[in-house]
Amino acid sequence: MPSSRDEITGPLTEVSQAAWQVLSANVPNDLRWHVLLLTLVIASFIWFIRDGHGAKNAAGREAKAGYLAFLLPRAIYTHESARVDVGLWVLERCLRPFWVVGLLATVGPFAERQIIYLLQTVFGDGPGLEVNYAWMLAYSLVILLCYDFVFYVIHITMHKVPFLWAIHKVHHSAEVLTPLTRYREHVLAGPIWAAGAGLSYGTAGAVFAYLMASDMVQATLFNVGFFALLFGFNGSFRHYHVQFRYPRWLEFWLQSPAMHHTHHSYLHKHWDTNLAAVTSIFDRLFGTLYIPGKDEYTPWGIGPDTQNQYRSLWQNTIGPFRDWYYLAKDGVSPQSGAVVDQSSIDGSADLS
Ligand SMILES: [Zn+2]
Ligand SMILES: [Zn+2]
Repeated sequence: MPSSRDEITGPLTEVSQAAWQVLSANVPNDLRWHVLLLTLVIASFIWFIRDGHGAKNAAGREAKAGYLAFLLPRAIYTHESARVDVGLWVLERCLRPFWVVGLLATVGPFAERQIIYLLQTVFGDGPGLEVNYAWMLAYSLVILLCYDFVFYVIHITMHKVPFLWAIHKVHHSAEVLTPLTRYREHVLAGPIWAAGAGLSYGTAGAVFAYLMASDMVQATLFNVGFFALLFGFNGSFRHYHVQFRYPRWLEFWLQSPAMHHTHHSYLHKHWDTNLAAVTSIFDRLFGTLYIPGKDEYTPWGIGPDTQNQYRSLWQNTIGPFRDWYYLAKDGVSPQSGAVVDQSSIDGSADLS
């Protein structure tokens, strides 16, 4: 049982030290080989059981392909959009060390300290529960839901607020999806996502540090590692052109990678859908869940009206500043044109 209020430090405060080491050691190779290998194994399995079907071409349409063209289609990996992914990734990796550690070391521990203080003020000293596997599991679920909720809120805000959409549009200007598209973000977006991650881990960490007698550092390290793997896999596969679907009932609970194809489509019915990172819970709650039909057509990008303004690396780097200029001048930004799908070939269930 903690004897004094000053003694409790949240796990994120202690983990920020470890995070520094992890981050500084892993800056250049975030796409781990085992994540990519798993992606290729699952894609091979899909190719085999669907007899060559299940991948999408550069236009976002399902098409049968031979094995190698299925895994690594030339039209996608030589596309200008894929090259811009590389450029934006390099730029982001170079600038990342300047803000990631700073944010993780400040936002997370700050949130942790404030919430622990608030809980102590309102409820007095914590109950001093013993750490066991059940609590660790509960902690994992709370972190997951916290993270997913904060991710959802940041993401929908970025879609709906023109000032922020100007930044996030760079992610959506991808005309083809490759695992690297996951990192296709304007450099200004990185600190926003990192602050969100710090806030969610900090909040969950504070609640459990308050409840538990001993420290949760071990559990936190386990969680951070576990979620890094989960998000790493989910993040790279959902930006892969092969459709990895879950059974329909499961897609009402978890976002399958194929559901993110919809998020990148410029068709009107797909716009602003499937915004969470891992679960479907918040999309369901807020009416933005969209379960795509079999082989649903999802043309990627921001639409034919404005795509040519967000094509090159330079355009994607200065894009937000340019949009902000028009926002300040005319009060409106050059909107991306969502297109109403005339040639729908699906039987999708639009729940929004
Ligand atoms: Zn988005
Ligand atoms: Zn994406």
